[in-house]
This record gives sequence, structure tokens and C-alpha cells, in this order.
Amino acid sequence: PDPATLPGLDASKLKVTLNEKRSTPPPSSELKFGSTFTDHMLTVKWTSETGWGDPQIQPFGDLPMHPGAMVLHYALTAFEGMKAYGDPSGRVTLFRPDKNMERLNRSVARVTLPTFDGGELIKLIKELVKLDAHWIPTEPGHSLYVRPIMLGTQPTLYVGPTNEALLYVVCSPVGPYYKTAIKPVALLGTDKYIRAAPGGTGGYKVAVNYAPAVVPQMEAEAAGYDQNLWLFGPEYQLTEVGSMNLFLVLRTKDGATELVTPALGDLILPGVTRDSILAIARGHASGKAPIDGLPKDLVVSERKIDMAEVKQAASEGRLLEVFGAGTAAIVSPVDRIGWEGKDIMIPCGEDGAGPVTKTMLREIVGRQYGRIPSEWCVVV
Ligand code: PMP
Repeated sequence: PDPATLPGLDASKLKVTLNEKRSTPPPSSELKFGSTFTDHMLTVKWTSETGWGDPQIQPFGDLPMHPGAMVLHYALTAFEGMKAYGDPSGRVTLFRPDKNMERLNRSVARVTLPTFDGGELIKLIKELVKLDAHWIPTEPGHSLYVRPIMLGTQPTLYVGPTNEALLYVVCSPVGPYYKTAIKPVALLGTDKYIRAAPGGTGGYKVAVNYAPAVVPQMEAEAAGYDQNLWLFGPEYQLTEVGSMNLFLVLRTKDGATELVTPALGDLILPGVTRDSILAIARGHASGKAPIDGLPKDLVVSERKIDMAEVKQAASEGRLLEVFGAGTAAIVSPVDRIGWEGKDIMIPCGEDGAGPVTKTMLREIVGRQYGRIPSEWCVVV
């Protein structure tokens, strides 16, 4: 049947089955990233014959899965990572959930999974988060990690588009990325492996991008670094950091301050944090929304940057700050890049991060919890 005539995802069809065996959320100090799950999950089935089925909120539990399900063999799956933020007054917020829906729809389409109405999934996520709201830790820096994911579940060993899919959402309370003060990370300039290539899937949040990155991560750790600085091509173009987008702050040859991030394309995941940092920086640079703590002469660039330029800027004292940006850590300052057997050092100051990095952390967190008013903060 013509997909346009089939039922779409519809939050008004939600059916809720409450969990009779509720668990007690562990003390926030004992949370380990992603290993605790709340009492409920959301599931929605799709088939190419019948479209999207009725959404279900049900007790958290195992998924029934045919051993031949396509996802288990050929990775027909894409996912999202977003957070719900709670404050002691009981208010719960999401940060730019429309961006996660937009990206999930792009990602699922890349692996032939069905697209859906993002506004409807946001409504369903709000219901799930409300039901398990007592799982959201409200200590500073804590949040509820929300993981929407879609799987191609057709039971076949044939490689092709799936005629069955499962969309589901699970939630996991998480502590702050930095337990005490911000701690800078050391990156290993990685050219032995690549994360993404032109024509590849690096611009999509598909599972196939993640498993192959674990060996490089372990090798970086064994060499005394925290994460990979993913490089690409004969010029060693900088792309991303671990699973974060990359930002650099340079003093330009004419003395201005430049915030640089690689331009989007096949090599770069369009991060929500990246987009937010660029918007804040551009608002400041244009004079429309000046931000305390950002330099007056800020120039914002999405452009190519390679290791030769980084090395030269560092040697001339013009490499001011480097940081990774993503939902998990928000910003992650970098104090060292291992490259060609040496370390390029980046000043991080006494409190672990330079002024642009620290200002961005404050501005993003403020908007996530709604303390700084913005259209990005969606109250659940
Ligand atoms: N790059 C990669 C490869 C990622 O997995 C993520 C996390 N989704 C990011 C960048 C940062 O994206 P976001 O700011 O949306 O979390």
C-alpha cells in the first residue's frame, strides 16, 4: 500500500499499562551512566501493510525478538540521545526535542526504516517522562537520559528494506558528567582509523557508526589519552571528538577571536549541542544577543581545519581553547592533543576550561533547565 494512506504515528491512540512491580530509584550518587532504567517504556510497532500501530506505555522489560530479525544481523537501526531535566520544584523540561526528532527521521530513512511525525513522538515522550518523573534526579547536573530507538524487525536473513519495525523509548537517570570540577580531556589524533567518510553514514545517528569506534577508543586509552580526535584525509582534517562535535577557539592573524567547528556533511553528526553553541555564538557576534564572557570580537566559522593549522596556531600561541560538545558532557574541554608522537598543549586555566568553553557550558545548562528563558526549553 501507498505509505501516505497508512496510519501515521498518533499519540492520541496511546494505551498505558502500569507497572505493578515498581522499583525504587537508586541514590543519585550510585548512578552509573546508562545502567539504571525507569519503570516504564514506550513501544510502537509499524508494518508496511498497516502503518504505525497504537503506541503503548508498558512495564519496562525484555523485547520479544525473532533470532532472524534484520536488526540483529544487518544493523537496521537508528537512535537518539536526549535528556529530561528536573528541578527541585518538580518542573521537568526537554531541550530542543524537535531537533532530535528531525535527526531521528533523517537517520531512520538512511537505513530504510519508516519515518514518523516527530511532534507525536514528543507528546508520547512527555507522557512517559511524566509517568516516571520521580526517577529524574534533581541534584545539580543530574538528568534523565531519554533514548528513542527504532529497529528493523522483519524475520529474514535477506538484506533489504524491512517490512516491520519497532520504535521504542527507554529512560535512564544519569549523574553529572563531571562529578566535581570540570576535568579537561586528552585527545589522541587518530589517523589509523576513520569514524566517517564522504558518502558514508557519519552524518546520521545509526548504530553502525558506534561499534567500530570502540577498538580505537580502547587503543587511545591504552596510549594514555581519553578519547579519539577523529581525523580524515591526507590533510588530517579534524572532524569529531569521541562521540562529540569539535570546537576550537583561535586567535586569528589579525587579532580577532575565532570559534571554529567543522562544517556539516558526511563526516559530522549534526549535534543539537553544536547547533545551540553556534546559535548562541552567532547571536553574540551579531550584537543581537550579547553574552557575558564571550569575547567582543568573536568570529564564528563552520569550516575545514586540519592538523597543520592546529600545530601552527599552537606554536604561535594562537590556539586558545579546544572543546567537545554533546548531550552527555555538554562541553568537554581539551588540554592536550597527541599528534606525531608529541603532545600539543592547550591552556585550560585553573578551573579546567577556558572562557568560551565555560561560558558555553553556563549558557547551555541555563537553557536546558529553563533558568535562562529560551524557545529551546520545552516544559513537560
Ligand atoms: N557526534 C557524535 C558521533 C555523537 O554520537 C553525538 C551524540 N549524539 C554528538 C556528536 C553530539 O550530538 P548532540 O549534541 O546532539 O548530543
